[in-house]
Amino acid sequence: MGTTPYRSIEGDARTGLLIVCDHAENTIPPAYDRLGLKEQDLHRHIAYDLGAAAVAERLAQALGAPAVLSRYSRLLIDPNRGLDDPTLVMQISDGLVVPGNAGLDAEALQSRIENYYQPYHQAIERAVDSAVSLGKPPVIVSVHSFAQAWKGVGRPWAVGVLWDKDPRLAIPLLEALRALPGIEVGDNVPYSGQLKGDTLYRHGTGRGLAHALIELRQDLILGPEGQAEWATRLAQVLRKVLDAAGGALHAIALHGSFTDETRRARGETGRTERSAMDEKTKIEIEAAAFRRLLKHLRGRTDVQNIDLMELAGFCRNCLADWCREAAAEKGLPLSKDEARELVYGMTYEGWKAKYQAEAPAKPRRQSR
Ligand SMILES: [Zn+2]
Repeated sequence: MGTTPYRSIEGDARTGLLIVCDHAENTIPPAYDRLGLKEQDLHRHIAYDLGAAAVAERLAQALGAPAVLSRYSRLLIDPNRGLDDPTLVMQISDGLVVPGNAGLDAEALQSRIENYYQPYHQAIERAVDSAVSLGKPPVIVSVHSFAQAWKGVGRPWAVGVLWDKDPRLAIPLLEALRALPGIEVGDNVPYSGQLKGDTLYRHGTGRGLAHALIELRQDLILGPEGQAEWATRLAQVLRKVLDAAGGALHAIALHGSFTDETRRARGETGRTERSAMDEKTKIEIEAAAFRRLLKHLRGRTDVQNIDLMELAGFCRNCLADWCREAAAEKGLPLSKDEARELVYGMTYEGWKAKYQAEAPAKPRRQSR
């Protein structure tokens, strides 16, 4: 890989703004042999967002804000998708089969993730971190462009604002854009901004940073004139919105995502989320059963430790030792007495004095 998979534009993190551009370029490293596509296919919207990179760059410059742009085609791997999204690597895009993506094995996918996907997101993370460390959690603005028609249906909007649940930037941004004369503005069109695992879900929703995705109709920004016009317009609008909002846009506030709620309502969770949730639930169930075991043993004071030991090979003190070992594995020192108190619900000495049979267990059993 000759070049880094992302491009950072220097800017002042104290502006509290970060511009990102997921689909900035149509580059496919030579080793991938254009994924088996014709050269002209790489100049279509399926390979990247035409005009978006230039607008993002000019917008960052106009605002003095840093920007992070991806440097490879979304056909290689789409950075604006969650890792468990089936469209992460498109096999067919807008009716076009992508031969180089057919039957991709786990190793090949992993290599694309490591070489192209992760470095881009790590660069965004670093940009966010540096603004946060300066006390100015950044507002994230993602710049995209959309095709003027999709499957034969025209799209009238010049610009769309895509967002999920955090209204802090999206609502005033929509209002400010709608105040501009002669510009048709779309709210969550041509797509919904509620996409689990996408760039803004990860860096905006996930970290509680105000954010919005701006979709520009690509025919408006194909040339330098349109690109400059829109960059200037967006810079003015954003500056206005930021000034009016004061500090609220730079507060860290977790608004959550509709995608989580819809999935929960449907009884679904994401692949990784489900396994994480299952593990947590499993641990909770195991813990509940253990607590019940302790409760049971505390109630059955007639059962002597020695009887337990002889019949089952363990006793209350063994349970205490197991707790102690489990705590030690977590780096939490637990004394023998503390561990025993956890099991007995009182001090071991106290329990012995109260409940331990005077006579040794053996003769008692022999007498049975
Ligand atoms: Zn895009």
